[in-house]
Amino acid sequence: MNDTILKCEDIMVEFDGFKAVQGMSLTLKRGELRFLIGPNGAGKTTMLDAICGKVRPSGGKVIFKGTIDVTRKKEHQIAEMGIGRKFQAPSIFPTLTVEENLEISVRQDRGVLATLFARMKPEQRERIDAGLAMIGLQDKGSWRAGSLSHGEKQWLEIGMMLLQEPEILLLDEPVAGMTDRETEKTGALLQTIAKDRSIVVVEHDMEFVRNFASKVTVMHEGKLLTEGTMEQVQQDDRVTEVYLGQ
Ligand code: ADP
Repeated sequence: MNDTILKCEDIMVEFDGFKAVQGMSLTLKRGELRFLIGPNGAGKTTMLDAICGKVRPSGGKVIFKGTIDVTRKKEHQIAEMGIGRKFQAPSIFPTLTVEENLEISVRQDRGVLATLFARMKPEQRERIDAGLAMIGLQDKGSWRAGSLSHGEKQWLEIGMMLLQEPEILLLDEPVAGMTDRETEKTGALLQTIAKDRSIVVVEHDMEFVRNFASKVTVMHEGKLLTEGTMEQVQQDDRVTEVYLGQ
């Protein structure tokens, strides 16, 4: 599968007249794991916010699956349509078990909050088990989420997102604060997820990007600076300049 799932055209985002994103375009294909990099303040997080509806662009368009214009939609509508967003701090329920956290996602997905107290259907149980295995926490389903390591909490949150079945995942620095081993596992997890979903990762950890990126988009001052493989991007003098100029 190689068709376009997301097309952001000429996105503009202003905060009190300050142009945080000024004419940024980004095209994402199905099954792509894309890294969005650039110096601090380049507008990367704001770009993710514009895609998921957390901020409203003052210009440009976000087109999902070729025809669906999500530019003016509300954040929850965009999430329901299949664009999931993960922020830096994990938003898990620490006093619930790992399984219970995943259960909440499965049931929200069905839009039946009232069933929280009902028996789980076998199909839901299977989805939770598959989710646990995917994030590598199959032996920790009964652990309190709050007692997991930092990396495990991040995986749990990714698992919660996955159970809502997004077609696109937007992740903001998913490996920040992780050990080397956790970072490796996260890269492998993202590659597995990207087999049938698309992912955009905002990332500062260049070693992580080098190890796992097939395509990298570089932003600078709210705009696209360049795009390509990590090798191509690293050889671009403009990229070195903007990073050195930080
Ligand atoms: P990056 O993720 O590349 O570090 P950001 O998207 O976080 O960059 O920020 C881009 C610019 O927009 C920065 O100069 C930042 O200070 C500014 N900015 C981000 N969010 C807000 C906000 N809510 N209000 C005002 N300025 C903001």
